[in-house]
Amino acid sequence: MRLLRDGGSLAALIFPDPASRVAQLKLALKFFFIMLLLFGLNSIIFLDNSYTLEIFTGMVIILMLYGFVSCDTTNIVAGMLLWTLTILASYQAWHSNGLYGTAIIIFPSLLIFANIFAGKLLAYSLISYMLLLFYFFAYAEHSGFIASSIKDSGSIFKKANNLSFMLLMSGLGIGLATRNAKLLIGNLIHNIKKNDDIQLAVNKLVLFDNLTGLPNEIECNKHVIRRVANSHEDNNVFAFIILELTNFEWIYASLGQTIADRIICYLADRLEILHTDHSRLYRSSNNEFIYLIEASDYDEISEYCQQLIQAIARPFPVESFDIEMTSAIGVSILPFDGDNYQKLKQKAHAALTQAKNSRPNSFKFFESEMEASISKRVKMVQELKKAIALQEFELYYQAKVAMADQSVVGAEALIRWHKPGAGIVSPLDFIPIAEESGLINEIGKWALEQACLDCQHWHTLGLGNLSVAVNLSPLQFQRGNLPSIVLRALHNSKLAPSFLELEITESLFIDDSDFIKEQVSQLSTKGVDIAIDDFGTGYSNLNYLTKFHARTLKVDMSFIKDMQQSTQKENLVAAIIKLSAMMALENTAEGIEDHATYMKLRDMKCQYGQGYYWSRPISNKDFIARVKHWDVNDFPKK
Ligand code: C2E
Ligand code: MG
Ligand code: MG
Repeated sequence: MRLLRDGGSLAALIFPDPASRVAQLKLALKFFFIMLLLFGLNSIIFLDNSYTLEIFTGMVIILMLYGFVSCDTTNIVAGMLLWTLTILASYQAWHSNGLYGTAIIIFPSLLIFANIFAGKLLAYSLISYMLLLFYFFAYAEHSGFIASSIKDSGSIFKKANNLSFMLLMSGLGIGLATRNAKLLIGNLIHNIKKNDDIQLAVNKLVLFDNLTGLPNEIECNKHVIRRVANSHEDNNVFAFIILELTNFEWIYASLGQTIADRIICYLADRLEILHTDHSRLYRSSNNEFIYLIEASDYDEISEYCQQLIQAIARPFPVESFDIEMTSAIGVSILPFDGDNYQKLKQKAHAALTQAKNSRPNSFKFFESEMEASISKRVKMVQELKKAIALQEFELYYQAKVAMADQSVVGAEALIRWHKPGAGIVSPLDFIPIAEESGLINEIGKWALEQACLDCQHWHTLGLGNLSVAVNLSPLQFQRGNLPSIVLRALHNSKLAPSFLELEITESLFIDDSDFIKEQVSQLSTKGVDIAIDDFGTGYSNLNYLTKFHARTLKVDMSFIKDMQQSTQKENLVAAIIKLSAMMALENTAEGIEDHATYMKLRDMKCQYGQGYYWSRPISNKDFIARVKHWDVNDFPKK
């Protein structure tokens, strides 16, 4: 389009590349050279050598121009060529019948060449010259300077007029045709460019993550294919690293998408800083990045993984928060762990799962045993789904006892899975997998509903003072609808909220988010009690106890069990009990197995206890029978 506005030649538009323009001009020079040669031969054979010298001069000039043509001289050469040919034709016409000569027939074709190779300026100057030439010839003939063989001097000016008119018409036609051709080609170029832009935009959408601008998995796959193809040429260790932000779901659910997106962008920047010439970074999903790295040995990869984890662990200042991200990394190696993208990814994922299960912020290289463990987990998820559909779960109850008089005040609901062919499966074996797969939401909902129904049933049996405690997984808070699930369970069972206690763990408070705080506070406002389970094993941040309206602290079993052997543990238990009293919280000791521990805790003013000393977790039917015949004298006194 710019060339059109500049009045550039058609050739410049058709061949924007100067080298191809030179080639075209050289072709034209060759063409004219051959034409002159043929004309010269014709002159020698049929016309008594009358124009041989002029034709020879023309050919020499063309040869010189041929040698002179270059990217910078195309316009000059085209101009000189056309002027040479025009003057040669004029010369020939002067010597043979002027306006009646044959040479001037070439003029329109010279105008065509001018339009194609040199542009408007040359075409205008040539046509002006040609028109002047017609009238000059007419005048010359009229005055007898040209000895024309055609004796018609009276109408010679009429002839010049006619020729001028025809030349102008041809020139106009050529000009219009050239202009239209230029417009057409300009539009074509414009459309091609537009298509290229669209293609680029589509590629960007398909191949790049639109939040961080990092290439995505498709690009990653392409790189692995190229790397696999060249692997025989390389002695480097090629590592496929999957990096997962393990607490991202939490951040997303509790702080919202905008902040989560900002963290991802900051993080991508941080990760890119660690980028070297030998590594490539991709964003493969919401909370997952892939690194491909060429290293000299495994130690270098380990060091790199360590750097990645440290970079992520540094807090991200977002608005008024300092957000800490946790991550896990799984690594697979080409070609030992796989020779294609799918296999490398699958093995890196297996290693990632192991890393996630070991401790926060760790990395693992793939080992063959990992695959077996993964397939075991996948199988268990299928079995758990079946267990939900076939109602293979049962709640067992463990009595909660008042330390002062050993009376039963309630029970903790502890889930059991009657797995066909495997007997009773402990929650310790399946709850983590239920959490990993998201099935905990359904299982947890069922446990809540069942516990409320059972507790209400106890009341109808005359055990009206008993409350029930239900364990909650932190993941049950993620959807934000836990309060409505709890309230529906209470409503359907007609159990008063004060008889329900919800056990949450300290891990729920890792991030001080309003999202979770609001749900807990909604529940306690409705009269449901909140107990902090396994107190002392997690973050033990006292601040959250008041913030989250907790009513009870459950001292973790690990302190109670070792109390007899360790004065340090004993002091710690005493301190927790004192602390809870100071904060107006109730306390329950878990895992009391013998009389001595019971007596010690009672002396420490511990209020409630649970443990095998009084009762193991038992089925609802057994629990009812047990409570009905509860007798403190049944328990050993030493
Ligand atoms: P937890 O809530 O801390 O439950 C106490 C665990 O200690 C229970 O194990 C109980 O059987 C055991 N226990 C109680 N007294 C004694 C004792 O004197 N000695 C010994 N050695 N152990 C004692 P269980 O039933 O295997 O449950 C393990 C964990 O599984 C629970 O720990 C709880 O975190 C989780 N869990 C159980 N049921 C559910 C559930 O319905 N939902 C969720 N999310 N988690 C559950
Ligand atoms: Mg518990
Ligand atoms: Mg516990």
